[in-house]
Amino acid sequence: AYWLPFSANRRMKANPAPRIIARAKGPYYYTEAGEELFDTLSGLWCTPLGHGHPRIVEALKTQAETLDYCTAFQVTNPVTVRLAGRIAERAPQGLNHVFFANSGSESVDTALKIALGYHRLRGEGNRFRMIGREKGYHGVGFGGMSVGGIVPNRKMFASGMIPGVDHMRHTHDPAHMAFSRGQPTWGADRADDLERLVALHDASTIAAVIVEPMQGSSGVIVPPVGYLQRLREICTRHGILLIFDEVITGFGRMGANFAAERFGVTPDMIVFAKAITNGVVPMGGVIVSDEIYNTFMAGPPNAIEFCHGYTYSGHPLAAAVAHAVLDVMEEDAVLERVRTLEPVLEEAVHALRGLNLVSDIRNIGLAAAIDVVPVDGAPGARGLSIFEKGLESGLLLRCTGDTIAFGPPFISTPEQIHAMVDGVRRLIQAAD
Ligand code: PMP
Repeated sequence: AYWLPFSANRRMKANPAPRIIARAKGPYYYTEAGEELFDTLSGLWCTPLGHGHPRIVEALKTQAETLDYCTAFQVTNPVTVRLAGRIAERAPQGLNHVFFANSGSESVDTALKIALGYHRLRGEGNRFRMIGREKGYHGVGFGGMSVGGIVPNRKMFASGMIPGVDHMRHTHDPAHMAFSRGQPTWGADRADDLERLVALHDASTIAAVIVEPMQGSSGVIVPPVGYLQRLREICTRHGILLIFDEVITGFGRMGANFAAERFGVTPDMIVFAKAITNGVVPMGGVIVSDEIYNTFMAGPPNAIEFCHGYTYSGHPLAAAVAHAVLDVMEEDAVLERVRTLEPVLEEAVHALRGLNLVSDIRNIGLAAAIDVVPVDGAPGARGLSIFEKGLESGLLLRCTGDTIAFGPPFISTPEQIHAMVDGVRRLIQAAD
């Protein structure tokens, strides 16, 4: 009997015979049967420094012996406090305060609650609407599901969605996007959809807009040049908070600490998780602006009932691991390495452009995706078959529907990246 992971996306069939992963080292997993599998998506975008990193293992051990837990409610600990400072140092100017949580979903819910609380404390409690984006993914909590724009993920739970949520149009258009390298130069005007929603609702009822700067789970959908700037400008004009969900893009994937830096746009909040602890222990959080923090701190404590925080917020073990991650990133110049690997991945994936079954290719930073043409009448079947054949050829792929995403570890060599994409080329050719 297998423990079957629950997939809320009914288009994705559960893998009937999952490989049992017994151990992992660097960019490779090893199955019980002794097969070696290259980690093409860094876990779920969360193990960019590779598995079993000695510095990280050491930090975890030492912290477990020193302080394994303490609440973040009445007291705190030096490891977590110092971590907040190091994270804020890397965030865009003006984002100086961190609220810790334990996953992307918790962190998204936290950001949405902070948005509502902020407006309420400023006497604008009528701002209750949230705006997400089609194809956006923000986790599986009720907040993240509600603002998320992948319809099958929330359909079954429609009765539990938070009220007042709208979704802007997405910016994915294979007709324009096909084989364009890096950021598309068209499509900034798709931000007009936010103007449409603002006009529809009365801007003074809108609390926040939340977007992934680069939509990861929908298949590396890169923002058109100028698009995020337009969102920023519209939000500022109407007093709406702009939240970047950087659960995938945060801490290096874009060749920068945050996508905000890469795209030159400063939001009011950044949600992070995944890479900050390299997948070793869970951690997430929200980085907020001085303005939001100061409003919360000035708010009369008893005027508004307020309780938010998790038992494991700012967990010292996670914080110690995060310090080791940031140390390694600094000492090994990891951001520079990602910037060097970006053109390697770009060239490799775009070399697939002539294949019959490839319908679109997208890439930015150390992230890329390839859409393959679906089998007639059976969407997702081709992706599933490529995934299964990948296992037989040493690749643990991430295929959602008929999209194959690549997010290799930052420690990959150029040769490993070429081998990964060449492996996929052979699988796609064999499927033709
Ligand atoms: N936001 C984004 C952008 C994500 O990619 C994810 C996870 N893939 C989440 C939120 C949810 O994170 P978690 O699975 O840790 O709850």
